[in-house]
Amino acid sequence: MIELPEALTLARQLSEAVVGKTVRGVLPPTKPHKFCWWSGEPADYAPQLCGARIVGAKGFGIFVEIEFDNGLSLCVNDGVNVRLIEVANAPKDYQLLIEFADATALVLTVAMYGGIVLHREDYDNTYWQKSRAAMSPFDKAFKAHFVSLLKSCKPTMSAKAFLATEQRFPGIGNGVVQDVLFAAGIHPKRKLGTLEVDDGDRLRKCVVSVLRAMVDGGGRDTEKDLFGNAGQYRTQMSKHTVGCGCPTCGTLIRKEAYMGGSVYYCTTCQPLGN
Ligand SMILES: [Zn+2]
Repeated sequence: MIELPEALTLARQLSEAVVGKTVRGVLPPTKPHKFCWWSGEPADYAPQLCGARIVGAKGFGIFVEIEFDNGLSLCVNDGVNVRLIEVANAPKDYQLLIEFADATALVLTVAMYGGIVLHREDYDNTYWQKSRAAMSPFDKAFKAHFVSLLKSCKPTMSAKAFLATEQRFPGIGNGVVQDVLFAAGIHPKRKLGTLEVDDGDRLRKCVVSVLRAMVDGGGRDTEKDLFGNAGQYRTQMSKHTVGCGCPTCGTLIRKEAYMGGSVYYCTTCQPLGN
């Protein structure tokens, strides 16, 4: 799933590899996906995009967007895989294939769910609007923003809920949150009310430093980039490391179902608190 590091990585790679390309053809889904949503009919994407040139790409929250010279943006969300391929190597099944004049193509596939939406900055979707308006953790004002959000939440709220729900921090989801909490030494279920000022401060700094390391690594090793390569950031608490020894203390890394997802953590380094 795309979270902020992957959104920024895909946007960078798209800027480097597809800006300037002109769309020659757009092929609709090879078979309909029950949980893929569109703006109108996917068959109508071709007349809107053919002949258009890509002028930019951006990533924010859980979204990646490709901008065209006719004012349209193609927006995909966290459940969509975007790959740049040679047309000759196109997979059998996809949701959308955008072919360029140089025989390369962007191929979009969806596993569980996904949105592939054409818009003119008027996409009426709460997640998109919150992601678009979100303050980047790399913004200078993020410190004050984080402190004020932390103060506004109930003391019974857990650390995972604070970071990864309600779109408080768009782009921090079930994946990224694990390593942030590990770096901060905070148990995913730890209540905000048990955090001292130092703990909150450390958590904020870890949000920034862990996300920075993930972005610098071209995304997490659990996710694939525009070229189908896994990210270079080695996740510490993930499906790749569950059952292995904690990198700090050697305690076996645990996995547990929590809040509609899994949490991975070290019981020694991330005490639950009171
Ligand atoms: Zn540990």
